[in-house]
Amino acid sequence: MKVLKFGGTSVGSVENMQHVKHIIADGSKKIVVLSAMSGTTNTLVSIANAIRHNTPDEAIEKINSLHESYFATIDGLLLDEALNSDVKHYVTEIFNFLLESTYTEFSITLENEILAQGELLSTYMFNAYLKQEGIRSALLPALDFMKINTSKEPDLNYIKDRFKLAWEAISDVDIYITQGFICLDEVDKVSNLQRGGSDYTATIIGAVIRAEEVQIWTDIDGMHNNDPRYVDNTYPISNLSFDEAAELAYFGAKILHPQTVLPVRQDGIPVRLKNTMDPDAFGTLISGDTSENGIKAIAAKDQITAIKIKSGRMLQAHGFLKKVFEVFETHETSIDMITTSEVAVSLTIDDDRNLDSIVAELEQFASIEVDTDQTIVCLVGHSIVNHESTFKLFQILKDVKIRMISYGGSRNNISLLIHSKDKITTLNKLNDYLFELVTL
Ligand code: ASP
Ligand code: MG
Repeated sequence: MKVLKFGGTSVGSVENMQHVKHIIADGSKKIVVLSAMSGTTNTLVSIANAIRHNTPDEAIEKINSLHESYFATIDGLLLDEALNSDVKHYVTEIFNFLLESTYTEFSITLENEILAQGELLSTYMFNAYLKQEGIRSALLPALDFMKINTSKEPDLNYIKDRFKLAWEAISDVDIYITQGFICLDEVDKVSNLQRGGSDYTATIIGAVIRAEEVQIWTDIDGMHNNDPRYVDNTYPISNLSFDEAAELAYFGAKILHPQTVLPVRQDGIPVRLKNTMDPDAFGTLISGDTSENGIKAIAAKDQITAIKIKSGRMLQAHGFLKKVFEVFETHETSIDMITTSEVAVSLTIDDDRNLDSIVAELEQFASIEVDTDQTIVCLVGHSIVNHESTFKLFQILKDVKIRMISYGGSRNNISLLIHSKDKITTLNKLNDYLFELVTL
């Protein structure tokens, strides 16, 4: 069986939901994971923020206008009166819950509950629409089976058992619809898999049911070789290995949630990226095939902070790096890039929430320099560390100030740290020389 995930744009309008119906209604049994309609989760975040900052009027205004827009969508989608009024009733209950939250004291759990509503709305609406169209479908509530543990990792055994129970309770349907993104935490409170997490939901389900394939349907025709927002003439890459896709997703390719391939990599379950607006386009197939060599794609990740930690006596001071890492460990901040020299170590983080306390602790045994507004540019491809075009990198980028470079950490990735203001130039230069066959 296949698992198909449709993102926010794919369910973002009546017309697009109709496209989705055409894609999934081929009579074969499948699991469909849906995101919230595009824009909804962002609005829910701003509603939660208004509650956090004690400006309930602002929250109420946003809730009411979102409510209205859902009613308009329902009227466009559901001409069947009984279904139309059933869905409006369900949706109104959700909006009443949101209105009540504006009188509630802010907490992270409240925020998570607010954020969960987007996927509950889209799946309920879409299931009713399929019913109207005579398609046999049913909802499998994600909160009945999707769970993370204390390390915020999916609790795969639990998910497997509970998914089976939920699934077995419903027969006689072709399409099982579930919510992406949302889950329970280790104490059964509502939580989520982080922004963009519906992709992750799809591959977690794919892994526990040993799916034949997981498909991620979005509004672009696959993973591109460079960032189409900053570079012209990018093209979709037809084949990526799990490792390549994992590096690209982690280092900035917006199309995939960073953890997406992890659950399916071990079992070799292929992940196909497809475009809802152009279903015939090949898209990108992510699989265990590692036969292609060379630089395949470039991605960039912004809002990186670089920290240089300098100690007068690093060589002799064994245990120095351990001390450094412990500081980051205590503050639950993960390190992305790292380079060392005899007297200093430079590293990068993308989560600077605990930066001040991290710096204060490091300053107890080293001198620290912090550079903000940095970008990691990541080049990905099998065995690129040995590939001939790799040796031209310094020449191609001779006018760009490179703050750090990471080569050899894996055979499939070379990462450069630059100032964010140099990002567009860097991406374009690399594109010209690596993909457009411009010679030096
Ligand atoms: N709706 C969630 C978000 O906007 C999850 C997702 O779309 O994947 O982040
Ligand atoms: Mg997404």
